[in-house]
Amino acid sequence: MVVILAVSIPVRAEWVGGARPMMGTEVSVRLWADDVARGEELVGQVFAEVERINLLMSTYIDDSRISEINRRAADEPVVAGAELFQLIRRSLDISVLTLGAFDITYDSVGQHYDFRNRERPDVETVAAERKLIDYRFVQLDQADGTISFARQGVRINLGGIAKGYVVERGVEILRMAGVEHAIVTAGGDSRLLGDRRGYPWMVGIRDPRNDGQVAISVPLEDEAISTSGDYERYFEEAGVRYHHIISPSTGLPAAGVHSATVFGPDAVITDALSTSVFVMGVDQGLRLIATLPDYESIVIDDKGRIYYSDGLQQPEAQSFDTSDNIDP
Ligand code: ADP
Ligand code: MG
Repeated sequence: MVVILAVSIPVRAEWVGGARPMMGTEVSVRLWADDVARGEELVGQVFAEVERINLLMSTYIDDSRISEINRRAADEPVVAGAELFQLIRRSLDISVLTLGAFDITYDSVGQHYDFRNRERPDVETVAAERKLIDYRFVQLDQADGTISFARQGVRINLGGIAKGYVVERGVEILRMAGVEHAIVTAGGDSRLLGDRRGYPWMVGIRDPRNDGQVAISVPLEDEAISTSGDYERYFEEAGVRYHHIISPSTGLPAAGVHSATVFGPDAVITDALSTSVFVMGVDQGLRLIATLPDYESIVIDDKGRIYYSDGLQQPEAQSFDTSDNIDP
């Protein structure tokens, strides 16, 4: 009698991932794969999704849909497509929520900065272009799916929200594919799926003035975290740091804060809110966060002082108050 043995070869399970320069920053993916080959395929799918979104939403690409909107929307309504339309709509909602601190029309001034070549707009340009910063100039026609601008010269730029959208989409792809533990990061924005297999993910907030040093590590599971800092894109001139987060009311880089971190359930919101809290400053920013039960914030001001939103237990309290600890 011949016995045929069915030998099942166990598939290898392990962490897989990768990192690529994309969207002017680094995008990285790390996931726990029950099957390594399948995991690597999924990592590739996330990068492909980032590329797809970038081609739609980057103002650095001449034939992206958003560039077309910037060219034509002051003359006629331009069809945005459902996905871009919705992200623009969400951006305008956040402008309302933040009383205009977050404003995608900042780009009428923002376009005149070139951080790599140390270029900035002169006083006259800022004064003229600043008048075109107002999210209310962006008009949406829900029925037609079109965007139009109420003034010539208005420009929009999703740099303060698109990376959050990208990491949210990346994690959604992984979740739909059955992945249970993953992190997708684009620059200062990360979206976590599940935990790190029995441990929380530790996400570091950089020390804004010590390159490569982590000021605070935040343990998180199944959440999003975004940091906006004045160290990401900047140059210095006569002791002044010109960086990439613009205060819509002045048209100048926002002062007073070195970094603003926001975490909560949705990376689109944490991304936009980290930019907003940076612009609003410590007091106003943390007051806004206090009204949003699902979101918390950590702000480092220009003296290096660290501020926590109300819902957060501060690290000192955690390390010194051991009364609730039960030693096994
Ligand atoms: P990072 O790009 O380092 O992740 P942010 O999420 O804070 O940091 O995004 C900063 C980007 O947001 C800028 O590079 C610019 O594209 C855009 N931006 C700057 N100022 C504003 C603003 N007031 N409202 C909305 N977007 C802004
Ligand atoms: Mg942001």
